[in-house]
Amino acid sequence: VLVVRHRMKNSGRWAAAMAILKDFEEKCATPIGKLKQVADAMNVEMHAGLASEGGSKLKMLITYVDNLPTGNEKGLFYALDLGGTNFRVLRVQLGGEDAGIINQEFAELSIPPDRMVGTSDGLFDYIAAELAKFVAKEGQDFQLPPGRQRELGFTFSFPVLQSSIDSGTLIRWTKGFSIDDAVGQDVVAELTRAMEKQGLDMRVSALVNDTVGTLAGGRYSNKDVVAAVILGTGTNAAYVERAHTIPKWHGLLPKSGEMVINMEWGNFRSSHLPLTDYDNSLDAESLNPGDQIFEKIISGMYLGEIVRRVLCRLAEEAFLFGDTVPPKLKAPFILRTPHMSAMHHDTSADLKVVGDKLKDILEISNSSLKVRKVVVQLCNIVATRGARLSAAGILGILKKMGRDTFKDGEKQRTVIALDGGLYEHYAEYSKCMENTLAELLGEKVSESIIIEHSNDGSGIGAALLAASHSQYLGVEES
Ligand code: BGC
Ligand code: MG
Repeated sequence: VLVVRHRMKNSGRWAAAMAILKDFEEKCATPIGKLKQVADAMNVEMHAGLASEGGSKLKMLITYVDNLPTGNEKGLFYALDLGGTNFRVLRVQLGGEDAGIINQEFAELSIPPDRMVGTSDGLFDYIAAELAKFVAKEGQDFQLPPGRQRELGFTFSFPVLQSSIDSGTLIRWTKGFSIDDAVGQDVVAELTRAMEKQGLDMRVSALVNDTVGTLAGGRYSNKDVVAAVILGTGTNAAYVERAHTIPKWHGLLPKSGEMVINMEWGNFRSSHLPLTDYDNSLDAESLNPGDQIFEKIISGMYLGEIVRRVLCRLAEEAFLFGDTVPPKLKAPFILRTPHMSAMHHDTSADLKVVGDKLKDILEISNSSLKVRKVVVQLCNIVATRGARLSAAGILGILKKMGRDTFKDGEKQRTVIALDGGLYEHYAEYSKCMENTLAELLGEKVSESIIIEHSNDGSGIGAALLAASHSQYLGVEES
């Protein structure tokens, strides 16, 4: 076979490359009809996940958040936002009575990769130590009434089975984290123990997913926010459900009649999803095979890797980059989604950015314009599929909420808070997602559905929920 391949003429190589590309494009196709099937399947799974624990791949987790911020939240609160390659710590002084945020400060730190795959103590000790340093720098602009313990909203962006607003056990890791001894543990207890070791006297008042934090933060600034979606390293959504329609909820009906649900939509899976061989092998070789299939085709951790896998095949079978396969191209996750985005957005006539990235990251020099165009096309195929499927997911939520159509002429504003690096920094992706959602909804309805970028709302949201679940609520300041 090798001999035949080496004799393959340039024109033959090119035809082979085009055939691979065309086949991939066809398998990634997301015509409107298919997207509607995906939205319907999402809606069906939402019902199943709410019916019973374990009723669906969609966990539809109960968050114990039955009230979203009102504007009355008051005092000094901290938040710790952990969920990707970075974590953030912040403090806010909330004014109460719609005075809003009087003061805020934050610090962003990256998590050393070895802490993401080590032990639970290793991760939480590190985080608590950084948090303690941050708390030590609290200045005069922030005020805690005397004798009070500091309180924290903990945004933990992984699937957690909660048993109250301030406790919950880790179901499993996602997004490249893999710390076996933490699975099944109460993450609030783990954090609390680590804080105590640091001599940090602080109470976790609210444990929230980033989608729930974003929803809370979004609601604080806009009363019409009813759902939140994260499109970042990972992906997920949360929304406000009517509590009496949740069969698996056996607690008292909350006064508000509402309950925020953390869907964990990253784990959604359906026969309608356009999955290719590349996706299947990516999944099989991942840290969490069989899990997070929706996430693996739409979120930032994986898009660049899918592109790399197709490029690898093009190099191996169609000699796209010459007689040999560039060695770097074989390294998993070497091509990150930000690189892909930079190449996708290259508007220069000679696609200089693409050429530079190929050279800098994959050590492929002297790429021809023709080859660079193939790379851009590939980025477009992968980003378009992800963006259109995320729009279908949002339609699924709107259907579940009964907000995908108008009821007799009434006009109801629906705002969805969006955040995440993919949404924020990959313009072609977010534009495509928004256009597809408008296309799915039709002109009339799409006017009433608003997508609002909530910049890092998840940390603020967690602090707000810590405030509304404070141990001192109702206690007069002395
Ligand atoms: C996690 C979710 C999280 C999402 C976005 C997913 O991998 O399972 O809990 O909300 O990433 O950060
Ligand atoms: Mg941001």
